[in-house]
Amino acid sequence: MTTPDLTWNTTLLYPAPDSPELEADLSSFEPLAATFRERYFEKVATRNDSELLTAIRDYEAMQTLMAKPFCYAHLLFASDSGNADYRFLSQRCSELGNRLSQELLFFDLELMELEDDRFERFCAFPESADYLHFLRGIRKFRPHTLKENEERLLTRKDLTGVSAFSKLFDELSASFVYRMELDGDERDFTGEELLALLHHTSADVRLRAFSTFLERHGEHGIVFNAVFNNMALDHAQEMELRNYASPMQPTNIGNELPDAAVEHLMAVTEANFGLAQEYFRLKAQMLGMQKLRNCDIYAPVAAAEKSYNFEEARTMVVDSYMSYDPEFGRIVDAFFSERRVDVMPRTGKTGGAFAMGISPVDPPFLLLNYTGTLRDLATIAHEAGHGLHFVISQQQSSLNYHAPLPLAETASVFGEMLLTRRMLDNEPDPLVRKSLLCAKIEDIIATTFRQTVLTRFELRLHTERAQGLLSNDQIAEIWLQENAELYGDAVEMIPAYHWGWSYISHFIHSRFYCYSYTFAELLVLALFKKFSDEGDAFKPGYRNLLASGGAISPTDTAALAGIDISDGELWQKGYDVLAGLIEELKKIC
Ligand SMILES: [Zn+2]
Repeated sequence: MTTPDLTWNTTLLYPAPDSPELEADLSSFEPLAATFRERYFEKVATRNDSELLTAIRDYEAMQTLMAKPFCYAHLLFASDSGNADYRFLSQRCSELGNRLSQELLFFDLELMELEDDRFERFCAFPESADYLHFLRGIRKFRPHTLKENEERLLTRKDLTGVSAFSKLFDELSASFVYRMELDGDERDFTGEELLALLHHTSADVRLRAFSTFLERHGEHGIVFNAVFNNMALDHAQEMELRNYASPMQPTNIGNELPDAAVEHLMAVTEANFGLAQEYFRLKAQMLGMQKLRNCDIYAPVAAAEKSYNFEEARTMVVDSYMSYDPEFGRIVDAFFSERRVDVMPRTGKTGGAFAMGISPVDPPFLLLNYTGTLRDLATIAHEAGHGLHFVISQQQSSLNYHAPLPLAETASVFGEMLLTRRMLDNEPDPLVRKSLLCAKIEDIIATTFRQTVLTRFELRLHTERAQGLLSNDQIAEIWLQENAELYGDAVEMIPAYHWGWSYISHFIHSRFYCYSYTFAELLVLALFKKFSDEGDAFKPGYRNLLASGGAISPTDTAALAGIDISDGELWQKGYDVLAGLIEELKKIC
């Protein structure tokens, strides 16, 4: 038997980075955009309904075409950021994408500037129905948008400004090789491998692995300081230029969630921090420790944590989707059988995991850094859930393809629940069940409480940077204070955690994304409770939720599966499920 190839088959998109097919696509975009601009620039307001619809469809068709090579370049760069050809292609695509955005942004602006009555007349035009959410989405930003030439300048300067800092962050982080002694043998590790050692049975190994990881970031404190300060300053300047009242407001408008609803979500979460502290104390007892350190949170509770080879893991994940719905199972299996997944960690490859949905006509891809732990197994289920969502929503057109951000984590977290439940149901050994329960509880803590801590930190980073340059000590102080809210006196933070803020890429790539995890986790606990109560009757609504992609608002999308996200009790219901899991664990102990 040959070893299966666990890297991406990117030839599903293009034969090679130097192929004529790719070149033909890339060189076609500027003429396309120029023609579009010539046809519609300063004319959107004067077009009749059917001409306007044609313009939107042309615009959408361009988006579909452009997604493919840009995502291809991103996949190559993520797989090996040290490869000079990939770097060149990735940079070329960023620059081209930037020029295209400048060329085309007039279209959004002119749609935004349409007089209200003209806009409403177009909305009443029957064939525009498919684009209402997209159009209303653009107009939400109407009070915060500048004139076309100003927007063009901002977009243009981003390339050497905020985007350059973001790229520097990626390249620096991916270049790190860590050296540490393990089992009497000093060797090199990737960052992912070190973080996986937080699941090691030895308390000393966990401490050294996490400290080595964090201190390495500390050695590059000058760069991280510049990246974080400049990201925050850039955002502060945009807020001022665009008249936003708070750093989170643009994200919340994009998410179609009122500021107060987000604050409510976080406040309910913070009111439940005691649950996490109760679990941390219980875990310290299970490990026979006086007090947990934050490098011990993911320590295995069984003497030897079960490890899963990739083929076993793949089978378990596919089976868990298959037993929920054979269609889901087949879609998930295709990622592996068609090699649309890059599995193993290596130097130069981007850390963590992601799923990339390209467009309704191109297949999505997954990136993993599989090391064999239970958590990695859950990550496969998670990213496969994103992949499934990207496939099922391909019935939408490009402008309606991507799920609204608060719902973007629904299928992924639901997929993890399917896997956990299947494993708990099939596991006779109480020790393994205990491990599974701990893993699930830790995961819920990480996606709800921790994400709220991250969001509070991020908020303070932005607010306090507005007062002047922040030193690394000041950033660390904010970081440790916000973490202390969660840990209380139940967990001690290790000294190197001073640098804990510096590696979290969400702060750099997707501002205020983190609360979406909290939103999604609690929403999924509610969905899962409904599934447990209703069985098969639940399934069509949930499939409709996934299939609707970004065609309607988050509120309307959740309603398809019978969930009311304006229900003030929804979040507490989620934490009640968590409290139930902790009780169940206490019984086994
Ligand atoms: Zn995710």
